[in-house]
Amino acid sequence: MKTMQAWILAGTLLLPFGLSADMTLVRDGKPEAAIVLEEKPTASAQMGAFELQHNIRLITGATLPIVRGEAPKDTLVTIRVGGENQGLTGEANRIQFSKNKILLTGNDSADYKTVNYKNHATFPPINFSFKGSLYAVYDFLEHYCGVHFYYMDESGTTFKERKTLTIREKDRTFTPPLDAFRVIYDDDSQISKFRFSPRDRALWQLRWRLNDTYGMTSHNQYSIFFAHWDKAKDPNLASAFKGKNEALFAKGFKGKSYHSDSTVRKHYPNDPDLPPQLCYSNPDAVKYYANEVITYFKGGNVPGGWLNPNGSAPAGKTLLPRMGDKPWFYPIQGGDTGGHCLCADCKKRFPQDNRENISNNKFQFIADVAREAAKTHPAAGVSSLAYIQTLDYPDGVVFPDNVSVQLCLPVYSWWHPVAYEKQFSAYRKWMEKEGKKRPITLWTYLFSTYWDSRFHFGKYKPFPGLYPWKTGEIFQMFTRDGVRGWFTEVELQYNHLEAYVAAKICYDPSLDPNRILEDYFTEYYGDAGPVMKEFYKEIENAYWSTKNCPAAWLQNEKEVIGSKGRRHPYWTTGLIGPDYNWKIGSPERVKKLNDLIEKAKTLVKTPNEKIRLQRIIDGIWKNTLEGQREYELLKIRKTQPPRSLSFNRGKDAGGDPEKIDWSQAPATAEWVGLSGEKTANACSMRAAADSEYLYLNFHDPKAYAGTPLSIWQNDLEIFFADGGKYPVLQLAFSPKGEKVFYRYRMVNDSQKTDEFDPGVKVISRTDEKGWSLLLSVPLKNLPVRNSALRANFLRTTPDGNLCWTPIYIGSYLGGIDMAGTLEIFPLTIQETAFACYRKGVDSALVDDPAASDGKAAEMNGNAGWSVSYTLPENFQEGKYRIFACLRSEAAPEPDLSHNLGVYDSKTKKTVGFKKVMVADIAGKEYKTIDLGVFPLKGGQLFFVGGLNKKIPVNKIYIDFLRFEKAE
Ligand SMILES: [Zn+2]
Repeated sequence: MKTMQAWILAGTLLLPFGLSADMTLVRDGKPEAAIVLEEKPTASAQMGAFELQHNIRLITGATLPIVRGEAPKDTLVTIRVGGENQGLTGEANRIQFSKNKILLTGNDSADYKTVNYKNHATFPPINFSFKGSLYAVYDFLEHYCGVHFYYMDESGTTFKERKTLTIREKDRTFTPPLDAFRVIYDDDSQISKFRFSPRDRALWQLRWRLNDTYGMTSHNQYSIFFAHWDKAKDPNLASAFKGKNEALFAKGFKGKSYHSDSTVRKHYPNDPDLPPQLCYSNPDAVKYYANEVITYFKGGNVPGGWLNPNGSAPAGKTLLPRMGDKPWFYPIQGGDTGGHCLCADCKKRFPQDNRENISNNKFQFIADVAREAAKTHPAAGVSSLAYIQTLDYPDGVVFPDNVSVQLCLPVYSWWHPVAYEKQFSAYRKWMEKEGKKRPITLWTYLFSTYWDSRFHFGKYKPFPGLYPWKTGEIFQMFTRDGVRGWFTEVELQYNHLEAYVAAKICYDPSLDPNRILEDYFTEYYGDAGPVMKEFYKEIENAYWSTKNCPAAWLQNEKEVIGSKGRRHPYWTTGLIGPDYNWKIGSPERVKKLNDLIEKAKTLVKTPNEKIRLQRIIDGIWKNTLEGQREYELLKIRKTQPPRSLSFNRGKDAGGDPEKIDWSQAPATAEWVGLSGEKTANACSMRAAADSEYLYLNFHDPKAYAGTPLSIWQNDLEIFFADGGKYPVLQLAFSPKGEKVFYRYRMVNDSQKTDEFDPGVKVISRTDEKGWSLLLSVPLKNLPVRNSALRANFLRTTPDGNLCWTPIYIGSYLGGIDMAGTLEIFPLTIQETAFACYRKGVDSALVDDPAASDGKAAEMNGNAGWSVSYTLPENFQEGKYRIFACLRSEAAPEPDLSHNLGVYDSKTKKTVGFKKVMVADIAGKEYKTIDLGVFPLKGGQLFFVGGLNKKIPVNKIYIDFLRFEKAE
């Protein structure tokens, strides 16, 4: 290597300068070169000619002519684009200098349509097309002319304006080594502040050399449902039904209405038996998919198969072409559903598989399908994702050659050392075991704090997460390790630079990421470059750090813990919630960054530099400043506990809300604006319950009747949330009598919405007194926990929105974590809500058939207070009678007793207690003991005191506590 470098150096020095090979394309603003295409050029070469002409005009103001066949007689330099490409295959391209001629060529797909530079629909396709000639042009523009395509539109193209453009001769032949695919999916294209025309987007993807040649995989396990589960709703797909064969599908989900992929579920909306996945050990499922693989391999398609989800593609149309001498894989990947087959065969094959890791079963299926297909078509392969529950390397599977695997890695969370360690080890193992044997490709997530906010924390405005240098480091490693393809999801409004660095390295891994970034800041921001570099560095150092992590997040090497608690080690979204985020974005840091932005404003000069800086301000920085203010406000407001409403169960009214004595039902406190501000209104909600139903009685003196408004402009929305989290139920009613019921679920960060029937009975009236709504809902259809329901009531009107409990953001659904509580007394608190101190030693949760729910909390009677229950902060202050359901193993000696009572840790005083004699609760049977009336409020602690005498057999069991209102 050393000798080689020395030789090149010597060669350069020896070359006489006068002969050195410089070629002038434009002199003093006058063209000296012509762009020459073949008589019948490819679309790729035509596009290359236009891009070359356009960008040289930007640099020099001169327009080089584009001609076909031969250059005009007096041309000094001929730039031939396309043709003369013998020996080049795949995406290979070549830049070659000879006397007065520059050849920019490469391997192009045989696509000869006419390209119109103004119309993106005529451009050569992004995917399934070789565009070597066009890539030669881009490489020439970048490496020889100093043009950079940094952004998704023309404002992001940088170059040095000059009247004379001279090129240093240097031949180059290049083939991008990631030959499977390089694809970017822009997750925020629909909500980004910045919109790009379809032409801009097409140019961006071509300029960043994005392409899909083989092996790209996504969810695609649908057709088998349409063929063998049941007739699909869609007529195109219904005709694909060949007959029921339940054996092909996952067992153990009958009647469970289990999560299904929405692509499948929409065709069987009310089928409670719809299975979430296949039975991977079923030989007919293997044969079914081998057949689908071969059908596509032969150039056909299947209704519901790859790129044909609705079955609308003409039969026989090729949707997954074979590209030259490249391998070919058909993607097979189940939906984002979680549930996997529970049959005995699947269990027996790989007993070590579990809910969180089913790699062996899944990849055995993939291997089986690939082997089956290869029996008749050895070049037909199968690709699949190693994704969350299947990212672990499947030690029990031997793969045939015709399998490709795409690893799904949330790299944006790799600042978290446990997430990194876990995911990197899985990645490393795949690469070591399989990287040399087959194409291993990637699906990365280049997200940041915005994603976590959007999907996990109510869409608050976060402090940014930017990490372009880390991205460079990580992608350099990926490409050195020999990954063959890269797909990413990214929110380009925020992380466009991370996407740029990754795309650049994936096209040409020999590039130095630090150099790419140095060039970027200098070229993109001009004199403001160093300041903007410092801006990015400051944010990267803050984001990619553990300095502000609570100790508990890092102590356990086995669990990835973040703001959302424990996460699947291979699905580490949701690590950054507002409290942690604004520790990273400390007031000092925000001030420092704001000073940098202010300084940058004074340093940017050209119109494009100003646009680029403004994009950072509008897309990232304004949001940060607003977010900081809102967080400060939120901290103050959140000290007020969410509201609660409590009431006793009344006598059964059979679901008829008109049978309730509403004069006895408590009403909500005054309704407020969404951020808790006082607003003139007289909305009220009264609540009641019996053994089977929740009853609600809403009134607003203003009905807005007579105004033509949609339900979403004039309605009452009731939200029920399971513990303030998903699933969330939304019941919307309008004064006109319209109603809409939705259920929202969160599955692998994608929100699934479906309509559902809560069994509501509703009576809606509008008259001169306003709008009244009476309704009942069966409690069994609501997420009741320990006799309490998390709920909020929101009123949308043309004059503004109101709510019972303030949510502090504009999105009703986003504010669900602020939901209030409906407490239905008597309140029964089961042992799962108890705190266990020194669990496993002094306390435990145990199965006990004698307990009302088969479970109880067990406490060592010699170690008092090991089992306790803390009243929630929003527990309504008042007098309550407490009952405890107990039994003791201790011998019923006289005088042996426990004290049970309530302690206030704020005042450090015991609120009250009752002495319970062991003799009254000894034995196998539970006794419900009346502990008396206590004045209670939120935050107080119910305790079980120790025995008054230490004895060897001493366990006390608590089945539940019950609170009854005593006034
Ligand atoms: Zn099975």
